[in-house]
Amino acid sequence: MEERTTVLLVHGAVGNDGLRHREAELCALTGQEEALLAACPGRLTPADCATALLAAATRRIGGIAPVSAEMVAGLTVGDRERMLLSLTQLTLGETIELVLPCPAACGAMLEIELRPGALLDAPADPEEPEHVIWTGTAEGRWRVRFRLPNGHDQQAAARAADPALALIAGCILECRDPAGMAITPAEAASSFAAPLGNAFEQLDPFAETVAAITCTSCGAEGAALIDGFAILHAGLGRGEGLFADTYRMARAYHWSEREIHALPIARRKRYLALADQIAA
Ligand SMILES: [Zn+2]
Repeated sequence: MEERTTVLLVHGAVGNDGLRHREAELCALTGQEEALLAACPGRLTPADCATALLAAATRRIGGIAPVSAEMVAGLTVGDRERMLLSLTQLTLGETIELVLPCPAACGAMLEIELRPGALLDAPADPEEPEHVIWTGTAEGRWRVRFRLPNGHDQQAAARAADPALALIAGCILECRDPAGMAITPAEAASSFAAPLGNAFEQLDPFAETVAAITCTSCGAEGAALIDGFAILHAGLGRGEGLFADTYRMARAYHWSEREIHALPIARRKRYLALADQIAA
């Protein structure tokens, strides 16, 4: 299995050279990241954990290296999702099996095969970081200037009473009523959540990746939201595998925990298979 991959980001990151860098190079997850995931959520939100995970796994973005947690948190939600899906493919394989409830809630559980790579078709040209929408009410046309949500916004919103609204409010740079008077981002977010949500979706389409599903029991059709972080978290479990593997590897190869945790997960599994053959 390849231990590195690259994924093209839609928006990317701006380097010290003032240029936009879009190609992210990722490494397969090792036991170190698995231990980090096992400790999540704990006091951290999934968005915090995703930032730590991506910072650990990203070797470079274009010509920018090393890549800090700060830089990863500054990427758009959609770019982060592209990186998480790419890591899922690299770490867990080309095909992932998911179990989801029927979209019409008939009680059936559906087993679907997901190919993360197929969700990662090449993005179009990058969008500008700031946008304006005009939206009408009975009083006239309102002007809302906003930027796209990034990892910092996700991390902050996860701690708010209403995360969806907090995410939108955090991205509003300015909102003016038909008379040209400014209103606060919080007011603008509750008034214009729907048009702003649509604009986010259009400008950062990978932020919400969905897979079409059909219930095998009642025939209902629907869409399942694909969350790269949740899939990785579920796929790697809660660390029991890591600690059991470490114990077995330490016995078979006399390596330190640090050395074992530094191995890509797929390679650790191959060593263990070998140890089993030798022992058998
Ligand atoms: Zn059903």
